[in-house]
Amino acid sequence: MARKKFVAGNWKMNTTLAEAKALATALAQGVGTSTAADVAVCPPYPWLVPVHEALKGSSVGLGAQDVSHEPKGAFTGEVSTAMIKEAGCKYVVLGHSERRHILGESDVEVHLKLHTAVEAGLYVILCMGETLVEREKGLAERVFQRQVYSAVAGITDEQWSRIIIAYEPVWAIGTGKTATPDQAQNAHYFIRTKIRSLHGEKIANALPILYGGSVTADTAAGLFSQPDVDGGLVGGASLKADQFLAIVKAAGN
Ligand code: PEP
Repeated sequence: MARKKFVAGNWKMNTTLAEAKALATALAQGVGTSTAADVAVCPPYPWLVPVHEALKGSSVGLGAQDVSHEPKGAFTGEVSTAMIKEAGCKYVVLGHSERRHILGESDVEVHLKLHTAVEAGLYVILCMGETLVEREKGLAERVFQRQVYSAVAGITDEQWSRIIIAYEPVWAIGTGKTATPDQAQNAHYFIRTKIRSLHGEKIANALPILYGGSVTADTAAGLFSQPDVDGGLVGGASLKADQFLAIVKAAGN
């Protein structure tokens, strides 16, 4: 059975409240109730509730950009799974390279957050990707083992159905240097083959693997046409309704 395409917009630390509402309203209108591809946006925490409101009546889902692995309590600045769920989130992005490389998030933290999130019933968009140096040294397998396998260790077969992997080569994020469709396909094929050998055919075949890294309306169709590329995690181009809607269209919506 063919996997459904999925396009998620990562707004990062961008937008005013007015901009967030206007963008969400335009996306809700543009996507409507189409379910040909799954679509979601991940605004900053304070805009989750108003964006959820603006998306009502459309099939565009809501995600957070991170979440705490603690359920509640004295953790100043943290936000829990219960809070983002109550704000309307179905998805959460975890292990984004900006959190790993700029904010020093460790594999252990990503592992704890992933377990907390899937146990809470959230769908996790687990990001992984190599730096340019790692790529040049041929360390793709090691990066996979460090970032994906460490994160999903102990996940049950049932919980795998709530995991989406986003392959995001660090050298392509926010740089304008999109991976070629062949580069993306090779990496996705490697990830799926690895998951197949570790967790079996059923989980590997059902697993959505998104590509992220400077996806634009011009590059989306070529990337999404690859057999193991199941959609995209989009940063910069998700902040412009027309561009994001063109990417969603390339995914079949
Ligand atoms: C991202 O933030 O996940 C991302 C892929 O960003 P961009 O599309 O801007 O490279």
